[in-house]
This record gives sequence, C-alpha cells and structure tokens, in this order.
Amino acid sequence: MRAATAAVVRRPGAFDLEPIEIDAPRQHEVLVRIVGCGLCHTDLSARDQDLPFKLPAILGHEGSGIVEQVGAGVTRLRPGDAVVLSYAYCGDCEYCQDDRMAYCTRNARLNFGGVRVDGSALARDRQGQPLSARFIGQSAFATHALVLESNAIRVPTDVPLELMGPLGCSMQTGAGAVINALKPGRGESIAIFGAGSVGLSAIMAARIAGCATIIAIDKNAGRLGIAAELGATLTINTQVEDALVAIRAATKGRGVHYSVECTGAPAVLRQAVDSLRACGVCASLGVAGHQAEVQLHMNRFLFGKTLRGVTEGDSVPQRFIPQLIDWWRDGTFPFDRLVSYFSLAQLNEAAAACASGLAIKAIVQPPHTS
Ligand SMILES: [Zn+2]
Ligand SMILES: [Zn+2]
Repeated sequence: MRAATAAVVRRPGAFDLEPIEIDAPRQHEVLVRIVGCGLCHTDLSARDQDLPFKLPAILGHEGSGIVEQVGAGVTRLRPGDAVVLSYAYCGDCEYCQDDRMAYCTRNARLNFGGVRVDGSALARDRQGQPLSARFIGQSAFATHALVLESNAIRVPTDVPLELMGPLGCSMQTGAGAVINALKPGRGESIAIFGAGSVGLSAIMAARIAGCATIIAIDKNAGRLGIAAELGATLTINTQVEDALVAIRAATKGRGVHYSVECTGAPAVLRQAVDSLRACGVCASLGVAGHQAEVQLHMNRFLFGKTLRGVTEGDSVPQRFIPQLIDWWRDGTFPFDRLVSYFSLAQLNEAAAACASGLAIKAIVQPPHTS
C-alpha cells in the first residue's frame, strides 16, 4: 500500500482532495508518481454521472509522471522512467493484435470497470472503503496512479513532463483522426467542427499533413482566433455565419474532401456530413449524450460519402505519442499554447474554467510531495 492524495468524487459535480491508499503494483502494473494531468470533457461527464462510473471514484485520464515502482512481470519500464499515460487495452484480442487497440473488445471493462479485471480494488479511502479507479486506464487526478505497463508510454526526460499528459487522450484523438484515420493528401481541404482541444489538435495535424484549405468552425471567437494562429486558413463563427454556406463559398461550391466532428452535437454531425463534396469522408469524434441520434439526407449521402466513427484517433499510443512529441519539438504541433496550469487542489476551478471556455486545456499538478 502507498499513501497518496487524490481528488475524489463522492457526489456528482464536485471533486474533493482526500488522503487515499493505493495498492502495490501486481504482475504487469506500474505505480506512477503523477506530475500533471489534463482535464478532458469525459472527466466532467463522469463527475456528473452522465457517463456511469461508480462513485466514490478517482478520475483523470491525461496523466504524466515518473515510474516509482513496477510489478514483477514488467519488462519495458523501470523506476525513474518518464511516462505519458493513455487508455487501457488488453493486447490479446483481434483488434489489439491488429494495432486497433482503441476498439479493444475489453475496452469497457478495462477503462470503465473501476477495479482490476479480477474484481480487486486498486485504491481505498482512509476508512478502508474501496474507491473506483483506473478511469480510462488511469485515475491520475492524484499524486500517484496504478496503471498497466502497456498504457504507460516511456518518453524522453528532456521535455517538460507536466505538459505531456494531454497527448494521451484529447491531443491524440484530434491529431490521430486526421493523421491515422482520414490521411488527407497534400493540397486537399478539411473542415473541423469545434475548436476545443480536440479540434485544435486536428487543425495542427491538418497543417502537418499539408492540407491547403483548413476550415475551423466554432461559436467562440477567441477559439477561432487561436485556430487561425495554429493553421486554419478560414474561420467560421456560427454566431454570425451559416457554416454550410461559408464552406461552399470557400470550396467553389463543391464542399470539402474531409470533415471532423468534435462537438458531440447531432446537428453539427449532420452539418459535417453535409459539408462534404462527393466521395468525401467525415470522422465523428464527439462524445454525445446516451440517447443521441443523427438524421442524414440519404440520397445526398449516396454521392460516395463516408461517415466514420473514430476513437482516440485510431492511435497506437506507444508509437503515436512519441511522434506527437517529435512534432512538438520541431514546432509543428505547439499544443502547449492551449494549456493553462492549476494545482490539483484547484481542480473544481479548473473544471469551471474549461466549462466556461476560459481555459482550452487545463492541466492540474499535484503538490510535489514524495
Ligand atoms: Zn484488446
Ligand atoms: Zn479524454
């Protein structure tokens, strides 16, 4: 058992810091001392119980830190290694074997089960009561997290480690959708609906891919300003303009080769599909409400169009996260510009700042105790 501190959700809507105990690493587990954890929309959905995750619980799934202790079966990592954490996957199923681990058949159990696969608790409160943990493979709103070796990605030690956690979810989701799933060719056009951290990552990736026309659509003028700085060649503010009219005007009436939906709103997904030219492809990334459904115009869809759902950017985290760090180093993926730092004790404030649009990507840092 390791004494630690975590932000615990006991009732929907609030995080409260409390002392906890984390189990010692078993066979393929590693204990990581967290130095930073990004706040992602999915954390807020679970906090509010729109996404079911048993309470009381420790959330946080964009963590980075230093390996403190490893289980007996761990081969790739050693204490002292710097790691970025990502989602969990089994490694054995047909999807994992095919490098499509975002679609692992054991995804729900490993990322949303709250306990180990054998049912044992990973963390307990001061009274010895179990806390749900390993949320999306992590539970990194804490000083320490107990994760599987497979979803801890070793990274170089000469980068600011506290910055790197968001690469494990939102950044790889947006960038991976473009680079791994859509794979646009040089000179092609793409429209990104939603300019939060996922959409802005998609915009940076579209520039890396060499897209000539990169259209950012949002209702927040501040975010659109950042989108333009990061590579959007056209921004559309839906408070003042109709997105489809503006996209057609910018593409000689044809529509875009690719579109990316990052908002989770059915009406926006419909627009993302309608913005495509013949044979265009739309990637749907936004997580919607449980009952959300979308309507499509069937006959317009017949023009060779593809609508494709994408989770975690189709990425193989062990390869894609180091790639994103390389792009960050050479200045083509400047995701640090989206980040605001908070202390772990300010997690409720960080959540409010993200909800209001004041912060694009909040990273919380635990107190640097031992
Ligand atoms: Zn699997
Ligand atoms: Zn996330």
